[in-house]
Amino acid sequence: MITTYQKKLTKSELKAVDIEKEIKCINSFPDEDYIKIIREVGFVCDFCGKCCTSEFNDHVFLLDDDAQNIIEHTGREFLRPAPYFDLCDNLGRFYVMGYALKTKPNGDCIFFRDGRCVHYEIRPSICRIYPYMLHREPDEMGNFDFRQISGLDLHGTYHNEISEESCKEILKSVKEYESGFQRQKLRFIKEIGRYFKEHNFRNSYQMYDRMMREYNKGKAIEVNIFFQGKFEKEIISKRINKHE
Ligand code: SF4
Repeated sequence: MITTYQKKLTKSELKAVDIEKEIKCINSFPDEDYIKIIREVGFVCDFCGKCCTSEFNDHVFLLDDDAQNIIEHTGREFLRPAPYFDLCDNLGRFYVMGYALKTKPNGDCIFFRDGRCVHYEIRPSICRIYPYMLHREPDEMGNFDFRQISGLDLHGTYHNEISEESCKEILKSVKEYESGFQRQKLRFIKEIGRYFKEHNFRNSYQMYDRMMREYNKGKAIEVNIFFQGKFEKEIISKRINKHE
């Protein structure tokens, strides 16, 4: 399990035009191919709860609508800046594209108690589509394709028969989530560009590494979380974030 927040965006990941291409690709991916993947996976949840633990998953990223929904039902106490910070400016302040759910000291999801999700009705979109989230990557010929990314046959039951109607519902949710994630990233990148220009800041990889070293030694850092089109500031430290 990754224990620091470090995973800055690379220069190519910062290009809006590439994110736009990604969104188009997700939306135009043939439904019948997606449905074939869903049928082949044939996942049915058996409520083992493993996907809510640190053994299987690192964190639960929240799209803005997920975070808003959780805030409305439970307040903000269960939210934290999503790992891993995307950027750091030249003055040492971090920026990240959204919130995540907090985790317990052992790394399990904060909503996972006594073997079940205590806020199942408002669980985030990623939990709703799990394990069908898809990762797009090039094959050996450089052609992009999707692959199913969660561990098969490690939890739940697989290779069950999934009805046509359920396949279509899953397909719709997966496409909404995957393109929603990219759209949130795109809004974040665009706002960063505007914000940095306005304040004369620049993205600094050197400062990123320096501040992460300080953070890992226990120093408090400033993180600006992109939410509903604006940045929300939080000061965090290893000392006060016991969940890390
Ligand atoms: S929100 Fe609920 S379903 Fe999602 S990981 Fe946490 S406990 Fe599991």
